[in-house]
Amino acid sequence: MAENADKEQLKEQLEQLRERLMVAPRLVWDQVDEAERQAIMTYAEGYKNFLNAAKTERQAVREIQRRARQAGFVDLAADESGPRCYYNYKGKTIALMVQGKRPLPEGLRVVAAHIDSPRLDLKQYPLYEDTDLVFLKTHYYGGIKKYQWLARPLALHGVVLKADGGLVELKVGEDPAEPVFTVLDLLPHLAKKVQMDKKVTEAFEGEKLNVLVGSLPIGEKDTKERFKLNLLRFLEDTYGIREEDLVSAELEVVPAGPARDLGWDRSLVAGYGQDDRSCAYAALEAILPLADPEHTCLALFYDKEEIGSDGNTSAKSCLLEELVELLLERQGLSPQLRRRTLMASRAISADVTGALDPDYPEVHEKRNAARLGYGVSLTKYTGHGGKYMANDAHAEYLAWLRRIFNEGGVIWQAAHLGKVDEGGGGTIAKYLAVHGLEIIDCGPPLLSMHSPWEVASKADVYMTYKAYRTFYLSREPSTVR
Ligand code: MN
Ligand code: MN
Repeated sequence: MAENADKEQLKEQLEQLRERLMVAPRLVWDQVDEAERQAIMTYAEGYKNFLNAAKTERQAVREIQRRARQAGFVDLAADESGPRCYYNYKGKTIALMVQGKRPLPEGLRVVAAHIDSPRLDLKQYPLYEDTDLVFLKTHYYGGIKKYQWLARPLALHGVVLKADGGLVELKVGEDPAEPVFTVLDLLPHLAKKVQMDKKVTEAFEGEKLNVLVGSLPIGEKDTKERFKLNLLRFLEDTYGIREEDLVSAELEVVPAGPARDLGWDRSLVAGYGQDDRSCAYAALEAILPLADPEHTCLALFYDKEEIGSDGNTSAKSCLLEELVELLLERQGLSPQLRRRTLMASRAISADVTGALDPDYPEVHEKRNAARLGYGVSLTKYTGHGGKYMANDAHAEYLAWLRRIFNEGGVIWQAAHLGKVDEGGGGTIAKYLAVHGLEIIDCGPPLLSMHSPWEVASKADVYMTYKAYRTFYLSREPSTVR
């Protein structure tokens, strides 16, 4: 009997030891109470609305600005004054700022997301007819698996700028009453040699991602290009545009239809563009209610991340420096303090990561892979083979984030994208890091990432919001050097 009691005691001691020493993954659903479970579900409703309202970067900027104005933010570019302001840059990138108690050179709290997503962009002379069908030529934007864009309903969003400066906005294929478009795929019966026997990278060509848009002719049989001509007539009647106007257009082909609840239990969200609008929405929801925080808070919503952050609306642009100079001037400080301000700042690169896919465990290293439902993911470094092209966040910074997240009730996990030599990817973290601020990637894991139908856990997108909010409200002095 005594021996058994000893055994029991030892078992209990080991259990306590385990609890004290070992890290255990925390499933959000196990950790939250009923009220927070409800908050997660409510948050997801607003999130889906945002995904539907913001399918392109231009729409995202407009929606973010609308919400900001509604919340009392004023236009910094128009010289409106107030402690809460926004700065819309070219309609493709936007920043929201909330003035803090401390002087700017003590550092900002920055959350930087991106609002562009993989898609098909129209070429400048897109319209042609072939075999009595009318098509639009495209060039894909960002990292896609081309076959995922075939044989599915597609919508067309964007703007056409006329030579006289007039702007025509197009949005076709979202309302169920509107027509949709599609990229054709070959029937399996004939696909053996041209698709099935080839490597996937060779079986689907970018040049064949042509979008079918019509098949009605005009005139008689001998009318030249009468299918294309009929469509041009339609475009003129409907939008007042001609073929040459398409040269100065930005028309984006995206998956048609709204984001939806996924699963009988409605625990997941499926939809297009969750990379990175899950983080953009979380940053927006986190900054909108802020008033008089300790540090000045900044939410950045960048364009062009999916093609390497090049261009003047991207994270590599001078926008951040300009914003900091504007804010310094407003506080009567020298814009020369810009560098000091940025070097004292702390930032989150708000971006998603790939979740462990149970059908492809071989590409993940399961101890360090992000798991759906286990909260917002902290990725110390991204990059590929030997950490090339990575931002590698400092351990001191991770330690501080761990502390504020734990104190703030944020369920988080630490994760990397895949096995060491499997591939990799980058985010905007490294482009902001050059300014000297502390920065780390932090966002929800996704399944089917970069596909037209990405999948997120409602628990993770909510914890992402909670993480950004906790970060904005953090009060610690900037001690990381
Ligand atoms: Mn992203
Ligand atoms: Mn991406």
